[in-house]
Amino acid sequence: MGKRAHILIPKPRSSFILVRCGTCNTERIVYSHSTTNIRCRGCNSLLVESTGGKAIINAVEVKRFEAP
Ligand SMILES: [Zn+2]
Repeated sequence: MGKRAHILIPKPRSSFILVRCGTCNTERIVYSHSTTNIRCRGCNSLLVESTGGKAIINAVEVKRFEAP
């Protein structure tokens, strides 16, 4: 059992983001690396699109909460 090279674990800078729907101004908190698509509760617009990594935010970013 030799010493093997360490395995790199990707550490994405994840955070929670308060976003506002550009269509109906409904606000909600979403996760920056959401693994599911998130739709607006008010008008059903796609707010967050999952990509498998950092999600695409299709809304106005109001505030970001950095993860500890
Ligand atoms: Zn909306």
